[in-house]
Amino acid sequence: MQIENNRLVGADNQPVRFVAAAHSGSAIVPRYIVMHYTAGGAAAGTVRYFASPGARASAHFVVSRQGAIVQQVACDRAAWHAGRSRWRGIDGLNAHSIGVELANWGLLQRGPDGFVSHAGVAVDRGRVAIAAHRNGPAEALAWERFAPVQVEAAAELVAALMARYGLGEEAIIGHDDIAPGRKIDPGPAFDMRAFRGLAAGRGTSSPPDCPADKDSYRQVRAANGLNLRSGPGLQHPVIGLLSQGSLVRVVSEAAPWAFVTRVKEGCDGVSGFAHSAWLTAPA
Ligand SMILES: [Zn+2]
Repeated sequence: MQIENNRLVGADNQPVRFVAAAHSGSAIVPRYIVMHYTAGGAAAGTVRYFASPGARASAHFVVSRQGAIVQQVACDRAAWHAGRSRWRGIDGLNAHSIGVELANWGLLQRGPDGFVSHAGVAVDRGRVAIAAHRNGPAEALAWERFAPVQVEAAAELVAALMARYGLGEEAIIGHDDIAPGRKIDPGPAFDMRAFRGLAAGRGTSSPPDCPADKDSYRQVRAANGLNLRSGPGLQHPVIGLLSQGSLVRVVSEAAPWAFVTRVKEGCDGVSGFAHSAWLTAPA
């Protein structure tokens, strides 16, 4: 992929589908790339909304769960994606950034039969991540995961933007970075560290730079594995299985339940609640 004449050109050398947004602003020189989730269902719905006269927002790109990209605002024009925002001394990021929307429900609610979106749409447990948002609150909440094919397509798009505008991976930021307290997207289910590595062409083999808070590490001692649950109690659904010997970090504990995240390459991975009787100090 590459950017030509402010349009994204795909691997087939054709510009990707362009559906003009109802709103775009004055000329910009992109210095940042702001990642968002749509808090919606299919990407097509968001694309239609941004194109509709009544829309109150827009973005340059919308990436579907299947990895299809639609462009809605030319890269040299402002889109209405950031709102009231501030980053590194710059106010109003719309005038300085490209907005990339990923189709994703975002924050989920716990329904009687599992997890549902704010619109009441059921989300399969395999697509749910339990994690606390770094901007708070401290409690673990449920979020829709991003499909690898979607993340890869977004990374290719962002790599093309970085190449065209001479940006480094530090230019990739989240809406929750620039509008903390007001915005929570793309949220904890979006692995920003891994995404920056992917967009910068480092793949997943990048050296991890995550805090090594080794005192809170525990090892799973359960021959058949240990259930990871969405809440502290047997009544909460199982969202994963921690294998015997795997390493976790205890984020918080209210005996006998510990909120843990799996330690992967020294960094936090999937998280949830586990019974602490099967967690011991690492060997
Ligand atoms: Zn956003």
